[in-house]
Amino acid sequence: MLVLKFGGTSIGTPQRMKEVAQIVHDGRQKIVVLSATSGTTNKLVSIAQSFYHEKDPAFGQEKIDRLERDCLAFVEELFEKPEFLAEGKRVIDESLTILRSFQHQTFNIVQEKIILAQGELMSTQWFDLYCRQQGISSSLLPALEFMRIQSGHPDELYIKGKLNQILKDSANFPLFITQGYICRNESGQIDNLRRGGSDYSAALIGAAIQAEEIQIWTDIDGVHNNDPRFVDNTRSIEQLSFSEAAELAYFGAKILHPFSVIPAQKSNIPVRLLNTMNPSAKGTTINSQEIASNNVVKAIAAKDGIIAIKIKSSRMLLAYGFLKKIFEIFEKYQTPIDMITTSEVAVSLTIDNDTYLDIIAEELKQIATVVEVDKNQTIVCMVGRFRKTDVGAVEVLEPLKDLPIRMISLGGSEYNISILIDTEYKQTVLQRLHDHVYA
Ligand code: ADP
Ligand code: ASP
Ligand code: MG
Repeated sequence: MLVLKFGGTSIGTPQRMKEVAQIVHDGRQKIVVLSATSGTTNKLVSIAQSFYHEKDPAFGQEKIDRLERDCLAFVEELFEKPEFLAEGKRVIDESLTILRSFQHQTFNIVQEKIILAQGELMSTQWFDLYCRQQGISSSLLPALEFMRIQSGHPDELYIKGKLNQILKDSANFPLFITQGYICRNESGQIDNLRRGGSDYSAALIGAAIQAEEIQIWTDIDGVHNNDPRFVDNTRSIEQLSFSEAAELAYFGAKILHPFSVIPAQKSNIPVRLLNTMNPSAKGTTINSQEIASNNVVKAIAAKDGIIAIKIKSSRMLLAYGFLKKIFEIFEKYQTPIDMITTSEVAVSLTIDNDTYLDIIAEELKQIATVVEVDKNQTIVCMVGRFRKTDVGAVEVLEPLKDLPIRMISLGGSEYNISILIDTEYKQTVLQRLHDHVYA
């Protein structure tokens, strides 16, 4: 069985959704994982914002009315047969009734997650209806019945057991359709895998059913060697190893959710990134083959929203146990550290989650003489092969010699050199590295 995931832009217009039905209708059995139609999750976030954070239900209501008009226009163009159009409208009504029912309630994170789930719930039902209108035999698999997280992480054992049971109990359809992104948590409440999470859903589903292949269909011909939103002349990469792709996804290549490669890697299932707008383009294949040459940068990515923390202590660094004390504070507040560099008197590290930043800084001050926090930092990550025995790896940094680099990390893994810069230099750094490496 195959797993194919289509992102928001791939189904962003009725015409595109029709084209996706063509792509998936090839006789091979598959599970199709869909995102919300493009822009819908942003609109839902904004509705929740008005209800709960801005306390402006009237504005929230206005946004719902606008969303309703957009959804109605979508289904009117999608369906030709009146009975399918009526069903499509019923789907909209069901979701919007839920949204409207929350407008006068006090903030509740559970309700916010229910609001955010409506995009995928609507898009999958429309797609299923459209397939059936076209005589394509399809069946909906409700993700809320098998996709589960436990303490914020996917419960892979549960997902595997439940999904395989559902598939076993259902008739042998050639096409199953399910929602990306949404799930339930350990208390049974609706939750999600965070923004961009449909890629992660697809990988988890692929691993759960031991799929032949996981295909991520999007609006570009695979992973490019740099971020095409900021850099000119980027090119598609034919092949990446799981480790290279995992580093790129984690360090900012938006085309893949940060954790989406991991389930595929664990189960050794190839992942292909393909372009819905150009289905015959080769795209990128991610598999277990390690075919990078030494000191060759396969791709560059950038991750924004990074916070740098410098911890100085003249007394304690020489004493062993200081780093342990630092790590324990981050562990206590479940805040992962991305980069770290040390000297005899100071440690610099980065985090991307500022939820507990103030309390972490307070606790660090109790064991350090100085704690400095800098926001608006960016990690630029060069992914390739930099073995410990190779010479010349730092040569890639040559074009940055007149720019301030806050931290450098080499040797953590042999796949990556990372630097930390102020976000204001991001575009310059990406373009200069690109021109230097791929000229
Ligand atoms: P989807 O809605 O299909 O999930 P996304 O917008 O999440 O699509 O991801 C695709 C986008 O990722 C591309 O349009 C591109 O602008 C951006 N992107 C960022 N970095 C890369 C990269 N290295 N290679 C390809 N695309 C990238
Ligand atoms: N619809 C969700 C989002 O916009 C999930 C996804 O597209 O992957 O973040
Ligand atoms: Mg995405």
